Amino acid sequence: ISYNSARFLLSAAQLSDCPPDSGREVAFAGRSNAGKSSAINCITTNGKLARTSKTPGRTRLINFFSLNRENCRLVDLPGYGYAKVSRDMKDDWQQHLSHYLTERRSLAGLVLVMDIRHPLTDFDQMMVEWCEHNNLPLMILATKADKLKFGQAKNAMQGIRNALKDAQCLQHLIMFSATSKTGLEECRNGLSNWLEG
Ligand code: GDP
Repeated sequence: ISYNSARFLLSAAQLSDCPPDSGREVAFAGRSNAGKSSAINCITTNGKLARTSKTPGRTRLINFFSLNRENCRLVDLPGYGYAKVSRDMKDDWQQHLSHYLTERRSLAGLVLVMDIRHPLTDFDQMMVEWCEHNNLPLMILATKADKLKFGQAKNAMQGIRNALKDAQCLQHLIMFSATSKTGLEECRNGLSNWLEG
């Protein structure tokens, strides 16, 4: 799979707007500002594919990107936890997301993007538990690793590994940086394994 030929496919406001549920796709989730859009743009070598728009209106959309392999997609899930959105909107978001996660048969794995300096937020733990409960393979990108000294980053990774030692769903735990491209090849290889099945 050549990730740099990824193309924007469509934005879906609800499950019925999603592309046909066939083939395989990998979805990216993360707390707002964790670095999810930057990670997707880095993986696809496209500075603009995943827009880092912070307007609440856009946050509800699920964005689909097609890859060069037939019926393979990357999916950008709405960022979680915008400070400005109301509680109602958060509940709405959660329902929206859980609908996608439970119904989507082509979903081959979930990439959870977290800031290596602030790992395993409540949201992250909820997503890990969700994957565990639903037997969905999980990849964690601990991103912005360039913001830490290497020793600190290694310690942070060990902390995450220890905290998740019982999570069977965790297939890849990757130290990542969109800035320095740390972990990029490992990430792409993991994605290809899932997408090529
Ligand atoms: P999103 O809300 O999860 O999509 O987060 P963004 O991708 O928009 O990133 C949030 C902020 O973190 C932006 O200012 C990015 O430039 C910055 N950022 C994202 N990834 C990295 C990284 O790997 N290294 C550094 N130094 N900054 C990053």
